[in-house]
Amino acid sequence: MSEHCVFCGHKHLDRKTTRYIYQKDQQMLVVENVPCLECTFCGEQYFDAGVLQKIENDYLAITHQQRQPRRVMLVAVEDFTALPL
Ligand SMILES: [Zn+2]
Repeated sequence: MSEHCVFCGHKHLDRKTTRYIYQKDQQMLVVENVPCLECTFCGEQYFDAGVLQKIENDYLAITHQQRQPRRVMLVAVEDFTALPL
């Protein structure tokens, strides 16, 4: 992981945890408390390859019914072109 923001060039990145949304095909996995580095200037977030790999493995385990997620949530879905003014 680089020590400056690739996006804006800012040099200060904070160690934080965040909510990561993994998407594949029409499915999603929401993972809370994922460690990342966040640019204090533009807010861009950086994740370790190992962290992302772990999330992908968990997604595969859940979709292959080898593991139950901690909880399941109902998500509202909209199409921007169909939104009222
Ligand atoms: Zn930045």
